[in-house]
Amino acid sequence: MTYKKIERVLPPVDPNWVGNGFRVHNFFPSGYRISKEMSPFYLMDYNSKIDLKGTDEPRGVGVHPHKGFETVTIAYHGSIAHEDSYGNKGIIGPGGVQWMTAGAGILHKEFHEKSFQKSGGPFQMVQLWVNLPSKDKNAPPAYQDIKHEDKTLIEKDDGKVKIHLISGQMDDKKGPASTFTRIDLWDIELLKGGEVKLPVRKDSNTGLLLVEGSVEVNEEREADQDHFVFFNSKGNGNNIGLKAINDARVLYMDGDPIDEPIAQYGPFLMNTMEEIQEAMMEFRQGKYGHLE
Ligand code: MN
Repeated sequence: MTYKKIERVLPPVDPNWVGNGFRVHNFFPSGYRISKEMSPFYLMDYNSKIDLKGTDEPRGVGVHPHKGFETVTIAYHGSIAHEDSYGNKGIIGPGGVQWMTAGAGILHKEFHEKSFQKSGGPFQMVQLWVNLPSKDKNAPPAYQDIKHEDKTLIEKDDGKVKIHLISGQMDDKKGPASTFTRIDLWDIELLKGGEVKLPVRKDSNTGLLLVEGSVEVNEEREADQDHFVFFNSKGNGNNIGLKAINDARVLYMDGDPIDEPIAQYGPFLMNTMEEIQEAMMEFRQGKYGHLE
């Protein structure tokens, strides 16, 4: 067993607001230019934990389009409502996941759930943009709503480590989310002192977000809360070692890179600028449906 080499441990960049609801550190593509190294994950917006006062004002982002990829939103604290032009609606609370396939084109809106908006409280979430290969960019829009208890639980180190599979596979068990390319997305809780070795493949792209607490990675580097660890995909390591310095929660992401050209403009993620222009035209022509 050899460890997959740590490339860098990245501190959070300065946050920016997405609408009036999400105060996010954009780790990539803007904060750090590592989208190629993290493919199929193109973007990661991380709302580190903040305490919000209750308000009567809706908090979030109004109706906007997406095309060519999937948005994956994970709530850790607080609760988030989703609604899209294909009639899908959902509310996720702590630990919940909204996995939306924008595919051929969709309109959606993302707001804090009403009663949480009114009461306020701690809020923490992550949004990933998962790229689709060109053959699947026009897949029918879809929505998967995954509650915390729907994730597949694997316990290690006498229960000191709980691995909740959102997607992908470990020890012949599978997470509930269906994906277009192979993606291991795991929500890992560790009690202080808990240790685990996560199996990784060759030539995959791998990262870890420290959502809570601190861990020692590969018996080598300490990674603290709100930091992102990314690994060298060229190495031959076949596992990643984690040991919790205190109670910790980690979002583990690993996938096979999509080796295709990327053209991104605003909410569209395609292969060429022609396809971006086409997407903008389709959006203007109302082809993504209707949403108030
Ligand atoms: Mn969106």
